Amino acid sequence: MQSRRGLEEYLRFEDEWLASAEDYARQALEACTGCGICLAACVSARALGPRYSPPERIRAAAAVLLSRGEAGERELELLYTCSLCGACTAACPAGIEVWRLVHAARLAAARKGRQPPSIARIAENAARGGHSFTPSPDRPRRVLRGAAERAGVEPGAPGEALYVPSPFETTLYPDVLEASLRLLRGSGVEATVSENALDLGGNAAVDAARPSTGLALLEKAVEEAEKLGARVIVLSGCGADHKLAALAREAGLKTRIGFKSIYELVEPEPCRGCVLFPSCGLARFYTRPAPVVRGAAERETRDHPPYTRCCGGGGGLTYIREQPLRGLRDRILAARARELAREAGEKTLVTPCIKCSTAIRQGALLAKQRLRVKHLAAVLAEPRRPQG
Ligand code: SF4
Ligand code: SF4
Repeated sequence: MQSRRGLEEYLRFEDEWLASAEDYARQALEACTGCGICLAACVSARALGPRYSPPERIRAAAAVLLSRGEAGERELELLYTCSLCGACTAACPAGIEVWRLVHAARLAAARKGRQPPSIARIAENAARGGHSFTPSPDRPRRVLRGAAERAGVEPGAPGEALYVPSPFETTLYPDVLEASLRLLRGSGVEATVSENALDLGGNAAVDAARPSTGLALLEKAVEEAEKLGARVIVLSGCGADHKLAALAREAGLKTRIGFKSIYELVEPEPCRGCVLFPSCGLARFYTRPAPVVRGAAERETRDHPPYTRCCGGGGGLTYIREQPLRGLRDRILAARARELAREAGEKTLVTPCIKCSTAIRQGALLAKQRLRVKHLAAVLAEPRRPQG
């Protein structure tokens, strides 16, 4: 396969990116006044207390970055209890982007072998078989074929839009993959999928902090889109893939293929009895699909402390298996589910992000909360399902 930039160039991009993060860490240390305004915005600080606050994370991330990746247990705890949601930035008078520092510090530490193994595995899987959640892509390929067939889409057929699912869709939630394809077709989009584009790479690039691995995967999807005659790559609502598409522009990926969220291509379909939880990805980092997303529910959850659009499980927290991080993560998810259950009342919570729906369901189980959660694609596809 002819590579446009290739892994080596992306590794060089990582080096430059880390150098700029070191500068940013120095600036952030100076800019943070310790005012504490961000604490109420941070899901992690609300659940775990002020020892897990954004300013503590700035200090930990800066220490890791300025020591070129030296990370003790305390630093790792602070880096891996952050869901990279950006809620603190929205609240901070200085606009400090804590999530950027945490992301870069995770990479610096990972290069020194300091990363929870369950998170490191995401990047290893992605690099080995092109799917972040499994070492072999065989099963996800079968799931893709089945969901595509049910939605009337032929994998590998030419099409104007290549849909690249989140790896959650080809493992845990094939129903969301099927609904997404039905939704695109029902909106008149000539969508296709490919067994060679199972995962865009956002989870590897962002959550597992290996931008080079994610960018190489994204480049593979671009090549597949070109081969199938597609003009656009369609992203699911997962915030990690949207952040990766932005990173690809920073890394200088040159392509005529455009990137669009599925929610830029479909019409809203109001859902009675639904409350919207738009996710940090679509509420803060990628606002273009917002009109469709917002048109889909009776009302939205609020986006000011303490009801910020963070599910608590972003940044790879849902995958963590090791203690004590896993226990801390569970406390965050349970506390978040309790807040969201109060917000939703008897209504169904709908979200465009598959990671949000996973985290919120997991939190509701841990907190023993009755909370109905649905994925937005499934809600929007329902009225468009062919009858009979
Ligand atoms: S990015 Fe989100 S989880 Fe991380 S420190 Fe900021 S508010 Fe807290
Ligand atoms: S709001 Fe900003 S300046 Fe204030 S403590 Fe939080 S990160 Fe620091």
